[in-house]
Amino acid sequence: MHRFASTAARSALRVKPFALTSPLARARPFSAFTRSQPALGFLSDYDEHVQERATSYAVPIAPKPLDAAQVSELIEEVKSGVGSAEDRARLLDLLTNRVPPGVDEAAYVKASYLAALASGEESPSLDGLDKARAVELLGTMQGGYNVAPLIKALSDPDEAIAASAATQLKTTLLVFDAFYEIEELHKAGNKHATGVMESWAEAEWFTSKPEVPEKLTVTVFKVSGETNTDDLSPAPDAWSRPDIPLHGLAMLKNSRDGIVPDVDGECGPIKQMDELKAKGFPLAYVGDVVGTGSSRKSATNSVLWFMGDDMPYIPNKKTGGLCIGEKIAPIFFNTMEDSGSLPIEMDVKQLSTGDVIEVYPYEGVTKNHETGEVVCEWELKTQVLLDEVRAGGRIPLIIGRGLTNRARTSMGMDKSTVFKTPVDPEQNAKGYTLAQKMVGKACGVPGVLPGQYCEPEMTTVGSQDTTGPMTRDELKDLACLGFSADLVMQSFCHTAAYPKPVDVTTHHTLPDFIRNRAGVSLRPGDGIIHSWLNRMLVPDTVGTGGDSHTRFPIGISFPAGSGLVAFGAATGVMPLDMPESVLVKFTGEMQPGITLRDLVHAIPLKAIEMGLLTVEKQGKKNIFSGKVLEIEGLPDLKCEQAFELSDASAERSAAGCSIKLNKEPIIEYLQSNVVMLRWMIKEGYGDAKTLERRIARMEEWMSNPVLLEADPEAEYAAKIEINLNELTEPIVCCPNDPDDAKKLSDVAGEKIDEVFIGSCMTNIGHFRAAGKLLKEQAGAVPTKLWIAPPTKMDEAQLTAEGYYSIYGSAGARTEMPGCSLCMGNQARVADEATVVSTSTRNFPNRLGKGANVYLASAELAAVASITGSLPTPEEYLSYAKNLDATAADTYRYLNFDELPEFVEAASTIEVSSEMKEAAAALRA
Ligand code: SF4
Repeated sequence: MHRFASTAARSALRVKPFALTSPLARARPFSAFTRSQPALGFLSDYDEHVQERATSYAVPIAPKPLDAAQVSELIEEVKSGVGSAEDRARLLDLLTNRVPPGVDEAAYVKASYLAALASGEESPSLDGLDKARAVELLGTMQGGYNVAPLIKALSDPDEAIAASAATQLKTTLLVFDAFYEIEELHKAGNKHATGVMESWAEAEWFTSKPEVPEKLTVTVFKVSGETNTDDLSPAPDAWSRPDIPLHGLAMLKNSRDGIVPDVDGECGPIKQMDELKAKGFPLAYVGDVVGTGSSRKSATNSVLWFMGDDMPYIPNKKTGGLCIGEKIAPIFFNTMEDSGSLPIEMDVKQLSTGDVIEVYPYEGVTKNHETGEVVCEWELKTQVLLDEVRAGGRIPLIIGRGLTNRARTSMGMDKSTVFKTPVDPEQNAKGYTLAQKMVGKACGVPGVLPGQYCEPEMTTVGSQDTTGPMTRDELKDLACLGFSADLVMQSFCHTAAYPKPVDVTTHHTLPDFIRNRAGVSLRPGDGIIHSWLNRMLVPDTVGTGGDSHTRFPIGISFPAGSGLVAFGAATGVMPLDMPESVLVKFTGEMQPGITLRDLVHAIPLKAIEMGLLTVEKQGKKNIFSGKVLEIEGLPDLKCEQAFELSDASAERSAAGCSIKLNKEPIIEYLQSNVVMLRWMIKEGYGDAKTLERRIARMEEWMSNPVLLEADPEAEYAAKIEINLNELTEPIVCCPNDPDDAKKLSDVAGEKIDEVFIGSCMTNIGHFRAAGKLLKEQAGAVPTKLWIAPPTKMDEAQLTAEGYYSIYGSAGARTEMPGCSLCMGNQARVADEATVVSTSTRNFPNRLGKGANVYLASAELAAVASITGSLPTPEEYLSYAKNLDATAADTYRYLNFDELPEFVEAASTIEVSSEMKEAAAALRA
């Protein structure tokens, strides 16, 4: 089931292709990157940088890859012909090994020079870098700017050069539309192009790589209990994520059982890992539960930095490695796959740090290296993992397989049998769930069954600012110059309030990078990614995002690490092994004082009661892990409310979430959203064509609003029924685990130091409710109260309605719209504080060092801020009942089609008939 091919309608809508046929021709001139300082200073400047990296941190770290200006200077120094033989050999080494590949600007400068050498326009001026070597080095650049000069070299009159270019192209996967140029040359009789086509058809790019060995001998590095991605890539260090060697220092920087950081709280256990490596084997990361929490490619990068293999010619990136967990969180598992690592779930009870083990990936057995005793037996999730490792990762495998298929089709050959194929489940579905139908629709079939491999079309892709720079790097590696996903949106919600210098650079550079590829860029201060992205969704479509809370309230999203997000944005599809589903069905009536947030927390509470979820990490049970959470029984929720439920599916470690809603709240939401998108165009947000296209798709849906529905016979891995009549008091999630759900009466009386009302779990209704509760009490509250609305539009509306004056009187600290305390990389609560928070998750140290965090509704949080403790249910209800009389006013959502300023701006924006026709064709 492949959906790489675009439909005709999509082509009509598309404004930019994924990769330009001749990217070199469209790139900036070589001179644009030249610094004004003299070229001869390059090596000494570089040595200073190397020295600084060697001495500025707890341990020496690798220098940064060369940027475009440095490569330009290096080349000027090469061309000058001066310098000792040793210096000139160093120049060649740096040009060969320290320039990022793909469509990085530095890669452009390198490819330009090598292309000039390869074509003979430039004369060689460095020993060891002649025309032939230039062609070879072009072949190490993976794709993008190197492809056009290699294709040109296929027709070089010098046979040896043409043959060498063919050799390089045979292992180059990121050729995209340039495939057709080679196909054309082949058909025109160019024997070297024919050689390339034959090689691709035979998958020599794959078969020339060594198979995964029968036995992997590794030393165990065990992290007991749960490793969440914040342990591997802490939020306060988010700014350094794109700098993999530097960010790696923060991995496991806080001491914990069995882990000895070099500098507690600053630098992770580098010495401990070095001592283990001295045994002579690579390390394997081993844990009870590994990789829960945010979808951080940076977490994978850090693990691989210490436990993976070098990548020839690619600076500061590693691949390979072995990750073992009794349970590995699904997104982390996928991110490991994408990076070429081998993730294996097995019983880890017998494994301790320092053990040397032999892992037999084909047999599914682990043995003690010294005694040969069997430690445990297990099964790989899929045999395709072995192909992925061999190919260097799941993404290279998918792209390479696609290339092989194209070549074979072009040459009239049958499908290749070289690759392992996923075993599809037997097609005896009694029916499809809602999620299975949505994914099916994105694949052009009625439904996709659990376990079935598919590549659904990515209609909407989100990227936020702490993962955005890494996604940008991945997009460059993928040679992406234009998005194929219908709408890609970038936010700045995680760093806008308290930016570090590196964040400011990101704020300045990333918007253009996204818009130039036809994506939509928000601005710092606009607010939280999801509160915006949700307003751009098309019902029943599929998407992804580099924030683990990318969980659509309409349609479905499968959040991912930045590598996969980049792939989805670039190609418009995403690999997916369809997960099983768990049905959560609400029945009965909401009781007084009970909020949506309590329903969110009722899900883990009920699952604990049913024995489907445990809080204990060792041997942890979690029925939701890796599955799709499908929610029914609340069809009239507003979409903003539905998002509270879908958002929190991240805390369940669910792969995705679907919510059955009636069409009325969806129509109401879309009527508001098309006004907001028009207003965005009027306000100068870009890419305007992409926004216009999205408006056309939303209006097309509203012209005939039909929603998919689950079949009554659809099967689920589990069914959980929650009777709202029995839910008579608030439910909180206790420190410091979002699974540790308890009734308020079980924890009442706990003294509270700080309260946070904000995050993507909140909407304007929560802030009105909190404001009304705060207004009832005179003067400042006894707790430190933080208030951060999700978007600037919420902030403006709350200000207009007088709520900011109430917050001020209560002594609240109001923060810029955005993530604020939620991620813990900006302002933080006091060390060891006890906190009530409306944010998404309460992992240890996330909101503040040693903080104890209760997750609760905004209403309960506001009461706790007034009482200074967790109230009893009776106390809480005595406050909450005051909200009942004005509930209709309190829980009004931001309907932009009712706000004159937005309506007026929107009235000036027309959607073209071409867009409308294309949207209609796309839907048909
Ligand atoms: S508010 Fe929190 S969970 Fe939501 S996007 Fe921001 S950091 Fe992530």
